[in-house]
Amino acid sequence: MMKMQSRTIMQDSKMHNEIQSSVSIMECYVCGKGLSDGHSISAKTLSNGIVLFCDVHYSMQ
Ligand SMILES: [Zn+2]
Repeated sequence: MMKMQSRTIMQDSKMHNEIQSSVSIMECYVCGKGLSDGHSISAKTLSNGIVLFCDVHYSMQ
């Protein structure tokens, strides 16, 4: 019971960290432009992980 509970907490914490780190950068993986440059940023999950693209490069993938 105790073991199962701590495993659940660890999984939640890991997932939360992954979301936070991908959101904190918020710039295009290709051109490096971000929200401050007037681009909208979208996340896409590739084989090597979550990658962010601007509106231009997102449609090119
Ligand atoms: Zn771009």
